[in-house]
Amino acid sequence: MKVGIVGAGAAGLAAAYDLCRAGHKVVVYESAPFIGGQASTIPVGGYPLERGYHHLFTNDRSILDLMDELGLGDAMGWYPSSVGTYVDGGLHKTTTAFDLLRFNAIPIYERVKMGLFALRVQRIKDWQGLEPYTADEWLSQKLGGHAYDVLWNPLLRGKFGRFYGEVGMPWFWSKIQTRFASREGTFAKEVLGYPTGSFDIVFDALSSSIRSAGGEVRIENPVVKISPPDESGQTSIRSIADDKEVVETYDCVLSTVPSFSMPSILDDIPDSYLNRLKSVQYLAAVVVILELDHPLTNFYWMNIASDDVPFLGIIEHTNMLPKEWYNDRNVVYLTNYLHRNDELFNLSPDELTDLYLEHLPKFNPDFDRSWVKEVHYNAVSAAQPIIGTRYGELMPSHRTPFERIYLANTTQIYPEDRGTNYSIRMGRQVAKMIQDDAAAGWSDWRSN
Ligand SMILES: Cc1cc2nc3c(=O)[nH]c(=O)nc-3n(C[C@H](O)[C@H](O)[C@H](O)COP(=O)(O)OP(=O)(O)OC[C@H]3O[C@@H](n4cnc5c(N)ncnc54)[C@H](O)[C@@H]3O)c2cc1C
Repeated sequence: MKVGIVGAGAAGLAAAYDLCRAGHKVVVYESAPFIGGQASTIPVGGYPLERGYHHLFTNDRSILDLMDELGLGDAMGWYPSSVGTYVDGGLHKTTTAFDLLRFNAIPIYERVKMGLFALRVQRIKDWQGLEPYTADEWLSQKLGGHAYDVLWNPLLRGKFGRFYGEVGMPWFWSKIQTRFASREGTFAKEVLGYPTGSFDIVFDALSSSIRSAGGEVRIENPVVKISPPDESGQTSIRSIADDKEVVETYDCVLSTVPSFSMPSILDDIPDSYLNRLKSVQYLAAVVVILELDHPLTNFYWMNIASDDVPFLGIIEHTNMLPKEWYNDRNVVYLTNYLHRNDELFNLSPDELTDLYLEHLPKFNPDFDRSWVKEVHYNAVSAAQPIIGTRYGELMPSHRTPFERIYLANTTQIYPEDRGTNYSIRMGRQVAKMIQDDAAAGWSDWRSN
């Protein structure tokens, strides 16, 4: 079978890897000049660094198993994380449950209540029972008080901006599951994973394996149209390579592009499926990476639960990973999730960096602009889907309404939050679905 795959991110490459190993001929089309999609890297101090901060949790089994399969298991490093929270002008250590008990921005009885509440959410098994509720309504009803107003509500607002009230409670539930899973016990420290050599090593190994099995991974080759099967059952992909349009035929096509891009590359999508694609809005991630010659904070991860700072987090990568990798520079991400209409999204990289730098003395009073040696700016559109209530009924299926055309993107990861682990799991699941459908002569084709 000949399969065309649109997108060389985690999902597309994982699907291509399995299909190639099963003996199929696969071509992966990538519009960008690099592979890895949202988890791709840029050189920082001579070493690859993700455009947006990345780490893994201990329960990210799909990517960890794949790394083992690729012979990369030994490259995984596990590091203790350290978490701070900035509230009302103060920095608080919130790494462990003990730190939360000392979190004096909230009265002591509320701190105990918050800890017990997190345990209660972690023990919920029937997450489907949470589907009718937004995180905001469920948490304000069941927790409420200072713990919600001072900590979790600002974090929801920080992550989802004006859409915070739309986020379904299963999103919050899954976040709690992941964070607990990366600790060895309720009161233990969290450990996070990072591959030595960056996430590039996973994508490079996938790409090499695809190529050595006769497949192709083509960069700078955007797909402009996918056509449903003709009378002979062939689907086709129209793409641009070296400024020329090229049409190639396939037995089936898997697209991993964001939902909002699907209508521009696939015509005449029936309303029932189109409405599912439109049921999810995305936030863009806007990330400023600073290379400093001093450390900024003592934390790897700093949540900012405060309206007086125009970004929502500081991830000080070299507070978890060795700064020797980056030519002894302290590497700091200043991050925000923004709607594309947000005025910050439309500032130039220099304007945004200037605005952000003014706020850094709040996190280290000694901060001086002379510490900044290099600045990198990255905007990732379609970074964070906003998954609302009753999403189980709205989620688009992997089989599109067009026979032999499949979709696998981050809006189809549920109830977990999107992540490399889940895109790999999904890519492999859809690769299996494609082979099962082909074996059945495409006869069980069903669409929603
Ligand atoms: C700031 C940030 C931080 C993150 N942190 C983490 C983390 O700590 N841990 C973690 O596991 N995950 C993290 N993630 C999420 C993770 O990176 C993504 O969920 C995952 O990489 C998505 O993979 P994907 O293949 O589904 O999609 P994508 O990576 O978006 O891949 C889709 C690909 O399709 C290509 N494409 C689109 N249109 C076309 C076209 N017409 N023709 C050809 N190609 C096309 C795109 O260029 C892209 O390469 C983070 C994401 C961001 C933005």
